[in-house]
This record gives sequence, C-alpha cells and structure tokens, in this order.
Amino acid sequence: HQANHDPLTGLANRRKFMKKLKDVLKKKTKAAVILLDFDNFKEINDTVGHVYGDQLLKKFSQLLLSSFNDNVFVARYGGDEFLLLIENINSKEEIEKYIKKLKEIVSEPFLIDKNEFYLDFSLGISCYPKDSSNSYELITMADTAMYQVKELSNKYYLFYTSEIFNKIKDKKIIREILRRAVKNNAFELKYQPQFNTQTEEIECLEALIRLKDYNISPGKFIPIAEETGLIIDIGRWVTKRAINQLKELRDQGFKEKRIAINFSGEQLNDKNYVDFLQKSLKENNINPEFIEIEITENVLIEHKQESLDFLEKIKNAGVKIALDDFGTGYSSFSQLTFLPADYIKLDKVLIERFISGEKLNSIKSLINLIHNLDLKVVAEGIEEYDLFKFLEENGCDYIQGYLFSRPLKVEELKKVYDKNYLS
Ligand code: C2E
Ligand code: MG
Ligand code: MG
Repeated sequence: HQANHDPLTGLANRRKFMKKLKDVLKKKTKAAVILLDFDNFKEINDTVGHVYGDQLLKKFSQLLLSSFNDNVFVARYGGDEFLLLIENINSKEEIEKYIKKLKEIVSEPFLIDKNEFYLDFSLGISCYPKDSSNSYELITMADTAMYQVKELSNKYYLFYTSEIFNKIKDKKIIREILRRAVKNNAFELKYQPQFNTQTEEIECLEALIRLKDYNISPGKFIPIAEETGLIIDIGRWVTKRAINQLKELRDQGFKEKRIAINFSGEQLNDKNYVDFLQKSLKENNINPEFIEIEITENVLIEHKQESLDFLEKIKNAGVKIALDDFGTGYSSFSQLTFLPADYIKLDKVLIERFISGEKLNSIKSLINLIHNLDLKVVAEGIEEYDLFKFLEENGCDYIQGYLFSRPLKVEELKKVYDKNYLS
C-alpha cells in the first residue's frame, strides 16, 4: 500500500498514477490528463504553517475522491500538485464539465479550526491520443500548459497545444542564453542620441542593451531576465559599462554627455544598487549629473512606495531621472506632480495616437502642462521630419528617433558625436 499511496492524503501517488495511465492508454479510448497546482499555496504554508497546509491538502483530497465517478482517477503528484486521469470522454466540452466540477470544490472556503481558507488553482490539460500516446509525454504536456496558464491572469485552465510548447521552449532557450551571457560578458551597449531642439546638439545618449551573439531584441529578452532575476546582474553590468564608456570617451577627448540607463522595476530588489552606482561613478570620476535613470510608469503603479524611495535616493545622489514610455500604461497626471523626475519621455505610441486622431493641439497642451511642472519633454520614436518640426515648434525639448539616428555602436557614435543634424 505504501509503495503506491501518498502517506498524507491517502491518494494514489505518482508511481501508481503512471501505472494506471499506461493501462488506460492500452485501451485505446480517449482520455485526458489534468495537472492541478494550487496558486499561492506556499503563502498559506509560510503564513499559517505547514500543519494547516497539510490539513487543507487532506481535506481537498477527500473532496476530490467524493466528487467524481469511476471515470476519474486521482493522485497526488507531490507538494500541492495533483493529477487527474479522465477516461471515457468524447469531447473537449466533456472535459470542461469535469473542470467546472473541480472548480466547484474550491468555490466554498475550507474550514479548519474555525479558520476559513480560500483555495484556488491552475490546471494544465493534455489529451490522448490527440497530443501523445506516451504517458510521460502526456504529463509533461499537462505540466507545460499549467506553467503557461500561471502566466495568464484571465484563465485558470489551458489545453496543451504546440504553440504553448514553442513559447516555453523559446523562453527556456533565451533564459540559458542570458545566463551564459551574464557569465561570459556577452552583452554590449548601443547608444541612441537625443537632440536638444534649442542647441541642435546631441545632449544625451540612451544606452540600449544588445546580446553580442544573438539577434534577439531586448523587448523579448528583458522580460525573461526580469522573470528569472537575471536582470539584477544585467542591470549592474549596464550601469558599469555606461559609466566606463563615459570615462573612455572623455579620455579620448570627447566632451562629456549624459547617458540614460533603463531601469527595470525588478531591479528595485537590488537593495544596494544606489551604492553600487555611486561607487562606479566615483571610481571613474564621473559627475552624477551625466547619468540619467529611466523608469517606466508601470513601476510606479506596481511598487509605488519602493519606487519613490528609490527615486529619492537617486535624486539625492545627483543623478537625473526620466519617466520612460509615458502614455503607454495607466499614466495619470497626478503621478507627475509628486514624481521627482527631470524628464518625461513621450512614447511613440502616444504621439501616434494623437496624430491619427488629428489631435495635434493636444500634444501642444501636454508639452505645456509638463513644462508647468518644471519638467523637460523628450519625444521618442520620431521618424518623420514634419512631426519633428511640429514638436520643435511647440516647445518639445528633445527628440529621439530614427529620423536622426538609430541606436549606434560606440565606433559609429564617435563619428557623429558633435554633428549638428539640423544645420
Ligand atoms: P525604450 O527604453 O523605450 O527604448 C526605446 C526603444 O525604441 C529602443 O528599442 C529604440 O531602438 C526604439 N526606437 C528608437 N527610435 C525609434 C524610432 O524612430 N522608431 C521605432 N520604431 N523605434 C525606435 P530597443 O533598443 O529594442 O529597446 C526596447 C526596450 O527594451 C527599451 O525601450 C527598454 O524598455 C528595454 N531595454 C533596452 N535596453 C535595456 C537595458 O539596458 N535595461 C533594461 N532594463 N531595459 C532595456
Ligand atoms: Mg528607455
Ligand atoms: Mg521608451
């Protein structure tokens, strides 16, 4: 009995489930594997203790057993994960009926020692023979779908598809590439100039990260770096590289210009970042005013107090602050009044939305409003001359975009460093 059952819940264990699954596959009738994983179960264990956690798993297991007929075989996969094998099904809709029933089990709170607990879960589903006829593969597929559904906020179950597989596979590969790149110094920075519309000179350079050996855009790999925590090492690398770059340029006789560094919300977990930044500045003898930190408005929404504390520290260190991608998120003007920023970067999307709605005057008002808050305006993603002209005439302070320059490798940058694009 012990070899085939889970001691805590009394359910079949993983081994028994595999045996059962293999037997069912031999029958050659349609079947489905459901992998169930609780959401935030770790929190319950961490806050009220394992004793309650165990009780909940026990209670849930009893309900699982009593809720279904002989078509469903239930097992504990391990931890807070359960496996269900459903036989004698003919359609996806039938499987969904079982899923509904599962959901009903957790629709009421669980009562343990007069304490109410609400449980919720995510499900990944694979089907025989559609997805595979191999028992191990079916479980992996259910697992893959479950992994994916955890990332979606609007779904709690997902049927396995090959697209899901490709997505995950991609992700895993990129994660590995990033891990190796951190170890082997395989990143580089490109620099995109920002023009001051008054002086007509390049005044600032935005540092944009690239993978040396792969053509994968940061839009794709930065979110993965954030998810895996690798962003902390990467963020430090970018900071250090940008500061070294300033020193190198100065040593070669180039005038000092500001470098803007993108800062991801996940880097708020890097508690000593500001110390690190200050130390790097000191070592290279760079004035902090030549560094600008770009944060996005989403960071403010998700981690408001932390962000404000961080920005205060940055500001006190003499470093400049820009609010990036303004107009893409849930930006509200009230943010701008208490934000210790120096620059607001209007996103390409926002500008395009105004243009397509023939609301050019609104851009003008927006620029005035930002100026009234004593902030400077940067327009991003400018590709057309007419638009540049319009922005310039309406007081936009800086322009960044392909019209003047793409992000450049440092050798290319040196060639245009003092160029006046407007004359
Ligand atoms: P971002 O900070 O908003 O950077 C501007 C992006 O717009 C860059 O894309 C730039 O190449 C692109 N761009 C500039 N001018 C134009 C234009 O005229 N037209 C169009 N269509 N695009 C233009 P890139 O380099 O692919 O970077 C994408 C995003 O990745 C950045 O958006 C930023 O959020 C993130 N990122 C890049 N480097 C870093 C980094 O070192 N750390 C962090 N945390 N994020 C980074
Ligand atoms: Mg940026
Ligand atoms: Mg931006």
